[in-house]
Amino acid sequence: MSDSKNPETIVLHAGWRSDPTTGSVAVPIHQTTSYQFNSTDHAASLFALAELGNIYTRLQNPTTDVLEQRIAALEGGAAALAVASGQTASAYALQNIARAGDNIVSSTDLYGGTWNLFANTMKDMGIEVRFVDPDNPQSFADAIDERTRAFYAETLPNPKLQVFPIAEVAAIGREHGIPLIMDNTAAPVICRPLEHGAAIVVYSSTKYLGGHGTSIGGLIVDGGNFDWEAAGDRQPALNTPDPSYHGAVWSEAAKPLGPIAYILKARTTLLRDLGGAMSPFNAFMFLQGMETVPLRMRAHCENAQKVAEWLSGQSGVSKVIYPSLMDAPMKARAEAVLNGGYGALLGFELAGGAEAGQRFIDALQMLYHVANIGDARSLAIHPASTTHSQLSAEDQLASGVTPGYVRLSIGIEHIDDILADLGQALKAV
Ligand code: PLP
Repeated sequence: MSDSKNPETIVLHAGWRSDPTTGSVAVPIHQTTSYQFNSTDHAASLFALAELGNIYTRLQNPTTDVLEQRIAALEGGAAALAVASGQTASAYALQNIARAGDNIVSSTDLYGGTWNLFANTMKDMGIEVRFVDPDNPQSFADAIDERTRAFYAETLPNPKLQVFPIAEVAAIGREHGIPLIMDNTAAPVICRPLEHGAAIVVYSSTKYLGGHGTSIGGLIVDGGNFDWEAAGDRQPALNTPDPSYHGAVWSEAAKPLGPIAYILKARTTLLRDLGGAMSPFNAFMFLQGMETVPLRMRAHCENAQKVAEWLSGQSGVSKVIYPSLMDAPMKARAEAVLNGGYGALLGFELAGGAEAGQRFIDALQMLYHVANIGDARSLAIHPASTTHSQLSAEDQLASGVTPGYVRLSIGIEHIDDILADLGQALKAV
């Protein structure tokens, strides 16, 4: 299906019409490990990548394939890979092009799990991640050396919720043969990073894409818009023979299949060797969730905007952090990147500090107190005593977490019920 369709249509139709054998309209769950080959020639051709097809569910699966086609269409990309979690997605996105001795330049404003992965585990693997200030696109250029393989950032990182300057940083990268990888977990539908020049998009589908809060998963989308071959020595993983696949040079080997060198390599080497595949059942669950993600994002954003405005008028609330309420330059950046709403994450600071923050959370009756975002239900957490409690007071402040900061992930319940619960909890502070 052409991806010129609108998001509401793509999430229902891309990648699937009906089952050719049974007529099933719903995508079946292909809970199988392996696939009968038609002949020895067929098997040999699959293994030689002369044609793409099912070999073994660690590598590909028909249910997962529909999810991959659907997210690729939603993002306007060439192809996608589903993996076990959002963490797997960000790790593979880098490992696909960075080897020991190489480096990545990343925004400092990251989900804590990604920060740990980059600062510690990647370092142990010999891949250095250089953290730079996302407010200043030039800081990415300044951190490049001859072994820089990628830029990395989140579209709408919490707790600061300052939208990333995708177009500016992507343009710097492209001048040097460096792709920008965007984690768009917090902004599906309202942002399409590839349109702004990003080359790769990663998701924790665990969050808004699923929306139901039942399944952990991750997705990597290859924009098909980055000239790996032209990047030459800058991208050796795609431009030099790969001994693990008969000396294939991925930027050449993928040519007959389309502009999918990056994602083909991720599937045929990383999934094969590290094995972080998505289960077919979870792929089915994400297909169910994605059918409503454009509708839900609209409702999430409308509710969050109303909550932000309402909180701004409450006594005891010293600051509300939400992109539409930011000062002019930051709001302008949000407007340049986001389309159709400012997201569903918001923060606010209680004048009473840490104790007030904890009292507020303990008083909530409907909002869930969980370390999660992106559920259809409204969620809340007090970062200083939970997600950011391992950081020093100074580091908490640098990451945007003051003692009285409360993070909300606004759901799609009726706005009156959300405000009623927030209101009664504020009275308890
Ligand atoms: N990226 C972002 C922005 C996240 O918020 C999270 C999880 O909270 C992840 C990645 C990791 O995703 P997962 O929990 O599916 O591994």
